Amino acid sequence: MIDSKNGIIGLAIGDAMGVPLEFYMREKLMQNPKTEMLGYGSHNVPKGSWSDDTSMTLATIDAIIKDKKINCETIATNFLEWMKNAKYTPIDRVFDIGRTCLRAITRFEDKQNVAEKCGGNSEMDNGNGSLMRILPITYYCYCQRLTEPEIYETVEKVSSITHRHEISIMGCFIYVIYGIELLNSKNLTQAYKKIKAIEYDKYFSQDTIRRYERVLKNNINKYSLDEIKSTGFVVDTLEATLWVLLNTDSYNQAIIRAINLGNDTDTVGACVGGLAGIYYGQESINQSWKNDLLKFDYINNLCDKFNGVLNS
Ligand SMILES: [Mg+2]
Repeated sequence: MIDSKNGIIGLAIGDAMGVPLEFYMREKLMQNPKTEMLGYGSHNVPKGSWSDDTSMTLATIDAIIKDKKINCETIATNFLEWMKNAKYTPIDRVFDIGRTCLRAITRFEDKQNVAEKCGGNSEMDNGNGSLMRILPITYYCYCQRLTEPEIYETVEKVSSITHRHEISIMGCFIYVIYGIELLNSKNLTQAYKKIKAIEYDKYFSQDTIRRYERVLKNNINKYSLDEIKSTGFVVDTLEATLWVLLNTDSYNQAIIRAINLGNDTDTVGACVGGLAGIYYGQESINQSWKNDLLKFDYINNLCDKFNGVLNS
């Protein structure tokens, strides 16, 4: 039996831990590292508020619950509900939305294209906005026992609702495969070996593959802190995520490391939190952080329903 709460609550807590620190300078955080759930800060929202990362993740889960399969039209409809009516939010308002997501969801609203062709596909559309919400696809692909090409196809269309450029899709694909390995009870290093062994040229251009060289050809965990950026660029976010995971030994330690990298703290927190949650399990998460998370019961309930679909 798969319990999606490990990853989903892990992601939400990583997101909420990072929200008040978004855009903070690393140098400042290193002098005074944050280890608790804080309120206000960057977005002036109460303690325990999670952001677009979690909202779009929950919107995706809710779509899979409804259809019992992946239907991009339903996912995009839920994204629109989030953007317009603040559904799937902790405080009933949207305080954080990326430019590429905003444009894509608006294209969907205006019926300019089918959902999976609404995402931006220029070089500039490679923020981490699809990586931050791709975790439910990890669970879905794992439970459906999809083959590697099928996983690619699924990731490609779900990412493309907002992010249709290859660089974004490849980041999501690596993240999903890594997560599936963890669900297969592989350890962090074994999962890393797996993502390095894939023949990416079956799916992506050399130009795109080259962007991920530091992850796939080198050992990302061996880079120094100064060499790891934590910006909103999808490649940087994936690098930071794997660097944190491979250099820490617990969920709590991983989240503290992630958010104190500064810059895009909520998304690095969310991406780390999702995978660390799968690996270490929800019971390993600091109880006070769980107590602080807004709408914990709502997320929990949605995960119960998602589990029902995944395990059926
Ligand atoms: Mg966010």
